[in-house]
Amino acid sequence: MDNEIPKCPNCDSSEHVALINTNQKIGTAVGGVAGGAAGYWGASSGAVTGATIGSVVPVVGTGIGILAGGLAGALAGFFAGSAVGNQVGEHIDRHIISEWRCNQCGTEFET
Ligand SMILES: [Zn+2]
Repeated sequence: MDNEIPKCPNCDSSEHVALINTNQKIGTAVGGVAGGAAGYWGASSGAVTGATIGSVVPVVGTGIGILAGGLAGALAGFFAGSAVGNQVGEHIDRHIISEWRCNQCGTEFET
C-alpha cells in the first residue's frame, strides 16, 4: 500500500492533509450501476431457470421465479460492481490524479 501523504505547500506539514476521493465516489456509483445492469443481464439465464422451476406452479410460480432470479442477479451485480468501481476510483485518486486538501488552511493541490 502507498500511504504517503504529501506536505501542504502552504503549511509545510502533512498533518491535516487528506486525499480528495472524488473519483472513488464516482467509481462506486458507476460500478454499482454497471454491475447491477450486468448482473441483471447475466441473471436472465437464472431467471429462466427460476421460471422453469416455478412453472411447476403455473403463472404465479413463473412470475416469482423470474422476479427472484432477476433481482438476485441485479443485487449481486450491484454489490460486485460497487466494490470494483470503488477500488478503481480509489486507484485513480491515489495514483493518477492525486488531489489533496489541507484541512488546516483549505489549500487544494495535486502531487
Ligand atoms: Zn495547509
